[in-house]
Parts: sequence; structure tokens; C-alpha cells
Amino acid sequence: MHRDRETMWPASANVLAIKDSDGISLVDVGCGHEDTYLRLKEFLRSNGFEITDVHTVVLTHAHPDHMGAMGFLLEEIKPRVFLHPVEIPLAADPSRLNHTFGMDIPFRYGLVNMPREQADIIEYFRGLCPMASARATHELRPGEELHLGDYTFLIVETPGHANGLVSLFEAEKGLLFSADAVGEVVAWYAPDSGGLTAFLEALDRLAVLPAKILIPSHGGISRRPGEEIARTKNYLLRREEKIIGLLQQGPIPFRELMRSLFKNPLLHVFPGPQILQCHLDKLAMEGKVLCGGAREDFLVQLMS
Ligand SMILES: [Zn+2]
Ligand SMILES: [Zn+2]
Repeated sequence: MHRDRETMWPASANVLAIKDSDGISLVDVGCGHEDTYLRLKEFLRSNGFEITDVHTVVLTHAHPDHMGAMGFLLEEIKPRVFLHPVEIPLAADPSRLNHTFGMDIPFRYGLVNMPREQADIIEYFRGLCPMASARATHELRPGEELHLGDYTFLIVETPGHANGLVSLFEAEKGLLFSADAVGEVVAWYAPDSGGLTAFLEALDRLAVLPAKILIPSHGGISRRPGEEIARTKNYLLRREEKIIGLLQQGPIPFRELMRSLFKNPLLHVFPGPQILQCHLDKLAMEGKVLCGGAREDFLVQLMS
């Protein structure tokens, strides 16, 4: 595994290289910074391979930190590219990510003053972790098997952070490549990337797999997959408890609730409002909260 030095999102995702008699398969390719791509090439070279030996690229989802380097890679090679069907149009035209990242939400609650069209997530990532587009040649179908070298992976759908996020499970050695579903940092989630309910269900799906080794996209390898999955789930549930706790003092406007939950102002356009929206969607569906009003006056309160 090629582990990136940074761990703070949107740092480049880890890249998994699997060799076989024909060459190399990569699972994700990392950010679209040239130095990130050069480090990937260095890593391959230090293992006796060149980028031209890569015949297959599996993308866990169409986010910049996982597939930005496709721009450089596709200039040099034409590999098979695997993606979950719902991620295929996003990878082909990344401007569609504005929808799955929920960029309309801060505008809905009057959290931003800039013109709507200026809030472009691809622009936002340009300096941090540039995105590229890529056309898939093959689909990753949940429940099916994926053969890479000597390994047979079960394709497990794990939406929440991305609608078509996939984790890969190899039963023989108990390897679980969890992508962004489980890792050192709990990934952000938005209503149009699956939402909180789907995220929690995905974690339950991973928890029942007999995994022995967890390989996340962000962070290091863990030999306690069960604990890592449970820690992620608890983190999400604790956030829900915190929201309920804040609401116990009475009705609170969305923007105030969001600011109490996320102290760092850098998170107040993304992903703070999107994450809070996911929790409110879940709590409203369960009949626990009541929401209503427009923009700044949008109030959230507990059902009595
Ligand atoms: Zn991601
Ligand atoms: Zn990621």
C-alpha cells in the first residue's frame, strides 16, 4: 500500500497496488497534484514497476482525493477503469459533484452571501486536491466478485459519504479495504451522498464481515476492524446525541445549531451544514424533531 503522508482531509487517499503476472492493478490513484502522482510512480518503481505496467484502476468513488491523479495517469496509459454505476457520471463530469456534496444547503439557510454559481466544489478543490475526469470502462456491481491478481474481492456497497462508495472484502486473508467508510477520521456525509441512515446501515454491513485486517483510504492499517467500525458508528451516534442535547434547551435556528456543532468556521459552508442536514433528516423521519421556517428563521425543535 502506498500511504499518503497527510491524514487531514482532503489529503490524498491511500493507493493500493496489487500485482499479478500481467502487471499492476491500482485501487484509487490519489489527488491530482503532480507531486502526488510522481510519488505514486516512485512507489511503483521502488517495487520494480512502471506506470505503464498498470492495466487496471479500481476507483472506490469519484472524489478528488481518490481519483484526481487520473488526469496525469490517463495521459500515459489506457487502463481498465472500474466504478460503481452511480459514480460513473460523476467521474465523467465532476461538476455534478456540486449536487452530491449538497452545495445548495448553506444557501437554503442563508449561511452564505456569495452568488450561488460561485460556490463550486471543483473550484474549491483546485488548490487543495485537484479533480480530474475519467470514463469508466467497467462497472463495480455490489454483491459481485472482483478478481485482482491472486485476490478475489467481494464488492460491498457503503453509501453515506458517496452514493456509490464501495468497500472491498477479501475473505481468504480477511482483508477489508474500507475506502472512506471507515478510517482514521470519520468521513463527511451529505443527504445526496446517501445520508446518515445509509451510512449507519453500511457500517452494519461491514461489521458482519469476518475481517482481520482493515485497510482504510485515510490512515494506517488496523488489525482490529471490528473496533474501528464500532468507533465510527459510535462517533456518528454521539453526534446525534449532541444535537438532541443542544435542542433540549428549546428551539434553535439551523445556523446556530450548526455553529454550536462545528466550532471551526472553515466548516460552516462545507461540510457542517450538510452533516447537520443528514442528522435532521434522520431525526425528523423518526419523529424526534420538528423543523420549519425559511432561511435564517428556519427553526429546529424536539418533538415533545
Ligand atoms: Zn471521499
Ligand atoms: Zn477520501
